Amino acid sequence: MKLIFKGIVQGVGFRPTIFRIAQTMDLKGYVLNKGSEVEVVIDKKEEEFIKEVYKQLPTIAKISEIKKIVDNRNFKDFEILHSKKGSRHSQIPADVGTCKSCLKELFDKKNKRYTFPFTNCTICGARYSLIIDIPYDRERTSMNEFKLCKSCLEEYRNPLDKRYHAQTISCPQCGPIYHLYDKKKKDLGSNNAIKRFSEKLDQGKIGVIKSWGGMHLCCNLNEIPRFRNWYNRPQKAFAVMVKNLKIAEKYAEITKDEKNLLISTARPIVLVKKKKQENVSPGIDTIGLFLPYTGLHHLLFSFLKSDALVMTSANIPGEAMITSDEEAFSINADCYLLHNRTIPNRIDDSVVRIWNNKRFFLRKSRGFVPDPISVNYDSHILSVGAGENICGAFSSDNNIFSTQYIGNSKYYSTIVFLQEALNHIMNLTMKKPGIDAVVMDLHPNYETRYIAKKYADDYGVPLFEVQHHWAHAASLLIDNTLDEAVILTLDGLGYGSDGDFWGGEVLYSNFERFKRVGHLQKIPLLGGDAATRDPRRLVYSIFKNFGKEIFFKDNEAAILSKLMDKSLFSTSMGRILDALSCYLGICCDRTYDGEPAMKLEKYLVSGKPRYSFNVDVKDNIVGTVDVFRQLDEKITKSLSNREKADYAYSFVKNIIDELTNLAIYYAKDKGVKHIGISGGVSYNIPITEMISEKVKKSDLKLVVHNDIPNGDGGIAIGQNTIIGNKLIK
Ligand SMILES: [Zn+2]
Ligand SMILES: [Zn+2]
Repeated sequence: MKLIFKGIVQGVGFRPTIFRIAQTMDLKGYVLNKGSEVEVVIDKKEEEFIKEVYKQLPTIAKISEIKKIVDNRNFKDFEILHSKKGSRHSQIPADVGTCKSCLKELFDKKNKRYTFPFTNCTICGARYSLIIDIPYDRERTSMNEFKLCKSCLEEYRNPLDKRYHAQTISCPQCGPIYHLYDKKKKDLGSNNAIKRFSEKLDQGKIGVIKSWGGMHLCCNLNEIPRFRNWYNRPQKAFAVMVKNLKIAEKYAEITKDEKNLLISTARPIVLVKKKKQENVSPGIDTIGLFLPYTGLHHLLFSFLKSDALVMTSANIPGEAMITSDEEAFSINADCYLLHNRTIPNRIDDSVVRIWNNKRFFLRKSRGFVPDPISVNYDSHILSVGAGENICGAFSSDNNIFSTQYIGNSKYYSTIVFLQEALNHIMNLTMKKPGIDAVVMDLHPNYETRYIAKKYADDYGVPLFEVQHHWAHAASLLIDNTLDEAVILTLDGLGYGSDGDFWGGEVLYSNFERFKRVGHLQKIPLLGGDAATRDPRRLVYSIFKNFGKEIFFKDNEAAILSKLMDKSLFSTSMGRILDALSCYLGICCDRTYDGEPAMKLEKYLVSGKPRYSFNVDVKDNIVGTVDVFRQLDEKITKSLSNREKADYAYSFVKNIIDELTNLAIYYAKDKGVKHIGISGGVSYNIPITEMISEKVKKSDLKLVVHNDIPNGDGGIAIGQNTIIGNKLIK
């Protein structure tokens, strides 16, 4: 009998498992990697064999289908045959955290890999971050600089070994090595480098660690104030790596789903409810925790007195993460722990938040890239995303592959990184040479448009524009395998089809078209970007609308009021949240992207709907200015935090309810069954819950994101599906 196994069955230790089972069951035949599938021929007992395969399935392998074909050939023994050259879309493995069995070796004094930080095997280790080209063999990874020693080669060649055909294995004899360096680039040697580095962290030093996909800055939690000052991040939330799950629970309340995500092989940063350590994420009620994922991290914690470390990508905010030693030294940290393997593909840690069993990806990167998203077209579409939090995407052979998280496109380094990442993903997944179309955002000033134009010119193919919120909506449809829905797309700012900045939209959307069913009232963005950076300008323009001047006086007020008619207008929900946060005195001073709205969320979490507002809805436009007027009328004295929370909650709920009503009304009228939420504001759990509650009361079904980022990291996928569908005909 011939059995064709489909799913995640390559590069995960599947063939050695098959080989072992066949040997113990005394079966004759062979196992073979073929394209992206595994072909097995056995001479008898296939039911028992399949049962055994499921029982012994390697942890990260997944069987999606087994096809049976009659095959009565005779074989003398059972063999692993040489792979037939797979097509270029065969699955490329993501980085996988060090597995249990490797961990055991790492701390086993008798093992040859005792304390070897690069210990890995067929099912774990760095993969995507070190692949230069495919097929995925050692000579096309950054391990090509390290020649296998005799003993590693034996493991590599032995079908019964857990490192059989593991492309990136090594040992202390033949693998990469860590050295400790001081501030002045002086090499302090490799002996006990990790232990000495850990002592420095315990003493309060700020260090840089070279990891699989980039460099991390780290320090112990007592040093946070000094670290903030030194790194010039007065308020930004830092991710914290904790020694183990038990320690994680010391810092946060963690649900079962969140635990499973923390210990999953992708090892993302998970946003969980903070219990202590306010200064890690000032004014925010979540903390981003993650568990050690490389051998080095595990070794580090075995030496450290601290049970947790601030661990943040070493970069300028929005710029690409640093990968070279030279750049790292320019940061001027106290000490460095660097290895001698190059990083061909930088890849940031992923950041996820869980709501209702669904994963909201704030950043989808290490551990998840390049997982494919399946689509109904097989053309090659290249899409470049929007302006901030960009990821690019490329479709091939009925799949979309997103690049890793790139950053903010206004930096030159990020634009270069976007091109590198797109070229790489195209090279890995392109079935036949050439692309069919390029897609970009409608915003005339996004730097990503230059990249898009360049690709379109180079390949001589058409270039398309897709409206920002339609792309969000389409990404939500594909995330839920739907053809249509009415979707609340709520975010910071996106360029609208009418030249205004949108972001508080109710869109009916399918892949062919969208209709703007309703939206928030327009508000002037005084000074454009300046209004985003300084939320007091938003409050000023809102209050000016009903004849009150606030925050600015005299000359400044005179200048701003002149801008009232000349400014760009925005319907953004994000800006309303910023303005509310500022007006209530929660956050007026924005030191990082999204800060006022994020700090407002903490109040929304604890707030109650104690106050009611009359929200004016005319021609499907939800009024916001007058709600601010009513708020201002109600507040006659300075507020306690409790009162701020209740006002914030009541205000936001009243507005969200009206937007949701518009969506429900339209859906029912047109017979659409699903209401969705997308865009950056949908990371905000209380707001998502407000929408969910309202939708529950209708007969409609709510859909949210799970595999594609809610925010602008999902835009390229949305753009891709819209043009992919357009070109099918
Ligand atoms: Zn392993
Ligand atoms: Zn070796």
